[in-house]
Amino acid sequence: MQQRLIAGNWKMHKTVQEALAFIQEFAKLAPQGNQVEIAVAPPFLALHAVGQSLGDGDYPFKLAAQDLFWEEEGAFTGEISAPMLKHLGCHYVIIGHSERRRLFGETDEEANKKVHAAIRHGLSPILCVGESLQERQAGRTSAIVREQALRGLQGVSSEAIQKVTLAYEPVWAIGTGHAASVVQAEEVHTLLRTTFQEQWGQAGQEIRILYGGSVTPENAGELFRSAHINGALVGKACLNPQAFAKIIHLASPIPQ
Ligand code: PEP
Repeated sequence: MQQRLIAGNWKMHKTVQEALAFIQEFAKLAPQGNQVEIAVAPPFLALHAVGQSLGDGDYPFKLAAQDLFWEEEGAFTGEISAPMLKHLGCHYVIIGHSERRRLFGETDEEANKKVHAAIRHGLSPILCVGESLQERQAGRTSAIVREQALRGLQGVSSEAIQKVTLAYEPVWAIGTGHAASVVQAEEVHTLLRTTFQEQWGQAGQEIRILYGGSVTPENAGELFRSAHINGALVGKACLNPQAFAKIIHLASPIPQ
């Protein structure tokens, strides 16, 4: 397995000025070296400025976008395409976040088109999947997560799958302060790993599976003791440079 990935999803937070101030502060605190891969996903409007500051400062952080549209260009008011993101220096793009699914009605089919668009243009998709509380209580977690992952990644070749990262983000854990327990996370990560191996063979073994949902400096150490958790997608805690840096410190190395 490759190094862990810790990605910070800023959601709709920070102006361009605030974004640049964050990067400067975070750069002083983040671990040096390449034991952990770090990505930051500012809002679209701050991507250019943050991308430039990452380049200038030679910081070891990668730039990620929070979404994209699957067409390359055209009459799609308000949308942003994969070539536009690539041109700005984005490496990753988050796709199918539960907030996009829940608030904007995004489907697995749309997530799948976005995954293909990202791959076509040299971006690495981070596909998010996760069950709601009702689905968990109804015993449907495995079915939902498997279905979202397989539909979202439908048609991706064994070669292209190596560019994909999966984020397991139980909806009931996002922004609630109630992270999944290590046992709950491991159960789903193991299921996803088996599913990926069945589908993509050896390449499926290499897909990183992140956990996301109320990861904090307080619970990250315990989560990262699990070899099944290949990193984290962090929301609220990534807005604070100290907290985000602490989580990254706790993420290395992957236990054998
Ligand atoms: C997220 O939205 O991807 C997320 C994990 O948020 P939080 O860490 O705030 O739960």
